[in-house]
Amino acid sequence: MKVLIATKNAGKVKEFEFMFAEMGVEVSSLLDVEDAPEVEETGTTFAENARLKAEEIANLYNLPVISDDSGLVIDAIGGRPGVFSARYAGIEKDDDKNMDKVLDEMRSVPEHERTARFVCTLAVARPGKATVIVEGHCEGSIAYKKTGSHGFGYDPIFLVQGTSNTMAELTKEEKNQISHRAKALAKLKDQMHLLF
Ligand code: IMP
Repeated sequence: MKVLIATKNAGKVKEFEFMFAEMGVEVSSLLDVEDAPEVEETGTTFAENARLKAEEIANLYNLPVISDDSGLVIDAIGGRPGVFSARYAGIEKDDDKNMDKVLDEMRSVPEHERTARFVCTLAVARPGKATVIVEGHCEGSIAYKKTGSHGFGYDPIFLVQGTSNTMAELTKEEKNQISHRAKALAKLKDQMHLLF
């Protein structure tokens, strides 16, 4: 059994390889494919973008494909940065600038209104079959400053619910216990025997 992961992000590929190894499923990714296309993320939701990427690549290579779309949703600013998380402060993926923009927008928001969540949506597209979508959430709130050096993206400004730590203060193992991506992967794992 083979599945193609529609990403060029080596970190994400590692997580998928780890999960599928114990199920005897062989994983490859767009890093292994020469001239792999860039699928434009034109959707307005994580699910739409995940579906777009998975279906386009599945149709192109005639293989089962899994894609992942994720980001940060902040209640006080209407759900932003949302699907624009990777490029919130501009075109380039600059984590520091993205966080600075969020901290600036949230400067005068009181503590009890700073609720937020990380969201990870996974889409499984199989040629000739309906696409399956699963989603994982990780609840928390937005800090007033950056703290911690682990992880990536918005981790240094994301306070994990029920703790006084930012996501960037957790070890990789601790993050993997609670993260939106881990939760979405766990849901997918529950359904894998039905899908493949
Ligand atoms: P993408 O799904 O690779 O396009 O990622 C979207 C963006 O959401 C990333 O560039 C990060 O800014 C943010 N993001 C997604 N997952 C995480 C996470 O686990 N921690 C921090 N930021 C994240």
